[in-house]
Amino acid sequence: MENSKKKTIYLDYAATSPMYPEAADEMYRILKEQYGNPSAVYDMATYAREAINSARRTIAKTLNAEMDNIFFTSGGTESDNWALIGAAEAAARSGKGNHIVTSSIEHPAILNTCRYLEQRGFRITYLPVDSEGFIDLSQLKRAIDSETVLVSIMAANNEIGTIEPIREAAEICHQKGALFHTDAVQAYLHIPIDVKDYGIDLLSASGHKFGGPKGTGFLYIRRNLEIDSLIHGGAQERKHRAGTENTAGIAGMARAAEKAYSEMSENEKKISALKEYMLGKVLKLSSIPELSHREITLNGTPDRIKRLPGNLNFCFKGLSGESILILLDMAGIAASAGSACSSGSVEPSHVLQQIGLSKKDADSSVRFTLGSGTTEAEIDYTIKTLENIMKKLS
Ligand code: PLP
Repeated sequence: MENSKKKTIYLDYAATSPMYPEAADEMYRILKEQYGNPSAVYDMATYAREAINSARRTIAKTLNAEMDNIFFTSGGTESDNWALIGAAEAAARSGKGNHIVTSSIEHPAILNTCRYLEQRGFRITYLPVDSEGFIDLSQLKRAIDSETVLVSIMAANNEIGTIEPIREAAEICHQKGALFHTDAVQAYLHIPIDVKDYGIDLLSASGHKFGGPKGTGFLYIRRNLEIDSLIHGGAQERKHRAGTENTAGIAGMARAAEKAYSEMSENEKKISALKEYMLGKVLKLSSIPELSHREITLNGTPDRIKRLPGNLNFCFKGLSGESILILLDMAGIAASAGSACSSGSVEPSHVLQQIGLSKKDADSSVRFTLGSGTTEAEIDYTIKTLENIMKKLS
């Protein structure tokens, strides 16, 4: 388990991804040379404005959207807050209703925004999920009533990788007169999404999950849909999101989106094959004689089509997930327990509990998320390390 060179084997792509060098180069160039405020009138400002519009065009293409429907934000969290609060407040003002439906396994960016809206008088229904993390569409249909203004269901879960039936969910919402938002932070550019074909009204994405910079993201707002602004101030983003634009971040994110989009289908195949390889090897660890008393199970769905290509989440029954993580880290392997945003907190993952795990089993779980840079040799080393860790902890 020694790792004198300390080269990290990075298996935490769902927490954040390494930046594409092209995206970092683009940012550096803009920061160094094109620092003009995009709202100004001189030449350098025109350049910055054009860089932002070109980024808008690039991002729109990846979703089959129009460029006017892409609004840049500071990331997934802001986009989720904006979608929910903006749509809820606009609807409430026009007397449409005060009910929102979401799922119980959403990211805290959604769940805590719902709690905030609850305090402001909105009624929220949290749909349960089955043991693989899927919402039930007939339950969704029943949950929408005449007061429902918005439904928010994540495109894919950050902890267990379950891909939700968002196209079908959007259709139900429209039949029943509710708007449909999806938190696509984990899914965008990892699996194809077509906002028009899927009938999505609002979609959140985050730059750092697909090789772009942290602190960047966008909200897609369907044409002719008016939601309230979240950030008030100047007239940026066509008066919908105030604040001097993060030109370098936006351009860097778009460069990453362009790369990730062009590589998406190849990466999907490659990463998914590596994931299946790792899955088989990890599950086989309990057939090693010294570990035969240990049970290892996959959290989430075994259906590879309905799970994000790079996501694996295991329960190492009876062992402490935190101890496994620490020993992995000592061997130079970066993985995660539950969601990255809640690591450091002692509460076991709400997602794992919602799919039926006990607190103890949730605490015994470790998430590995693979990406385009992951190699078979890294997986082999990780498996060997896991074997040693399990023997040590047994
Ligand atoms: N939504 C999901 C599903 C996520 O996984 C995350 C981050 O992990 C977020 C929202 C928040 O995105 P950001 O880190 O850009 O604020």
